[in-house]
Amino acid sequence: MTEKIWTHSADSHFLEPKGHWHDIMPRALADRMPRVERISDDEERVTVDGKSFLRPVPKILKVKGADGLNIAEINHRPPGARDINARMLDLDQEGVWAEVMFQSIGLWCALIEDPELISAAARAENEWLASEIQAVAPDRLVPAALMPLVDVDAAVAALYHAAEVGLHLVNMPTGHPKGAPDYNDAAWDPLWAAADETGLVIAFHIGTDGGDQASNFRGPGGAVLNYVHSRFGGQYAAMKLVASGAFERHQGLRVLIAEGGATWVPFIGDRMNEGFRQHSMFVRPKLARPPKDYLYEHVYASFQHDETAPAAMWAMGYRNVLFGSDYPHIEGTFGHTQETLHSLLDGLDEVARHRITRGAFEELFPHVSAPPAVVAAAS
Ligand code: MN
Repeated sequence: MTEKIWTHSADSHFLEPKGHWHDIMPRALADRMPRVERISDDEERVTVDGKSFLRPVPKILKVKGADGLNIAEINHRPPGARDINARMLDLDQEGVWAEVMFQSIGLWCALIEDPELISAAARAENEWLASEIQAVAPDRLVPAALMPLVDVDAAVAALYHAAEVGLHLVNMPTGHPKGAPDYNDAAWDPLWAAADETGLVIAFHIGTDGGDQASNFRGPGGAVLNYVHSRFGGQYAAMKLVASGAFERHQGLRVLIAEGGATWVPFIGDRMNEGFRQHSMFVRPKLARPPKDYLYEHVYASFQHDETAPAAMWAMGYRNVLFGSDYPHIEGTFGHTQETLHSLLDGLDEVARHRITRGAFEELFPHVSAPPAVVAAAS
């Protein structure tokens, strides 16, 4: 039997309970919150505050059962996707100890334009996340707070509230919400300052670009083009904070780009340094250090299957590389996490392996506990 590799996951999700918004908010507000309804085998309808659009349903996925047989045919739904206690069993089986948890239906909240609705939702959601999710295993579960971002003051208030209820992380869409300033705008400084002060990490999960920036390639290769394109939003979010000097002004600010891979960081760092140096006559603001320094120090990046991601850490000097299982999503490693970890990490030395599975994660979230010691399997 091969050794079990315990890892943390910097990219996981939970499915909200059925009727979630109505459980935590007054009916008149809950009725306007995002909901997703299946309308055929291929399509589902997403409705957010009276506006609807259609999107394709994720495809059926076959996973290996615990007994090694292909027993489970699931559609985007491992056993613990919605049930937090069943989830802990899934995590133990997969070898995932602590994990960052993003919303599912809640991710559509970025499309809410009414500042009062989104502020009320964030308050209710973040109290619920702290008491019903994080409290189940506070040393393992790190749910990301929902943020109202239509208005900077509301965002700052929500971040302090998230810190007050005990959360460690807030989530922001890669594309700035309609009507709000872009992320390189100094208007966001109070939010970066609040994150710096409280120690809360800011996460950008890829695929949350929103309206105009979302891709819509069609024809041959469209699915692959769209998949790759959806990673770019996280890269832009990171670049905006670096280039605008946000990290220079807020030295404790740390950002997690979830599910976007890791090898883009050295690449973008090189490009930014070249632009900063070769086009210095056009560059404002003048940062005290080359952009790549801020990118390497303040930005953390999670990957799931990428063959080249570990090399960003051991070969390219970028230390903030984290594994993410993307549980329970079809893009994730559920059912084959150990296989994936072994295939990517077996050749690495202990330092690199520890950094990618645990070190970088524990730097962001020092309160999490250590996974069980690995003991040799009895023969
Ligand atoms: Mn994910």
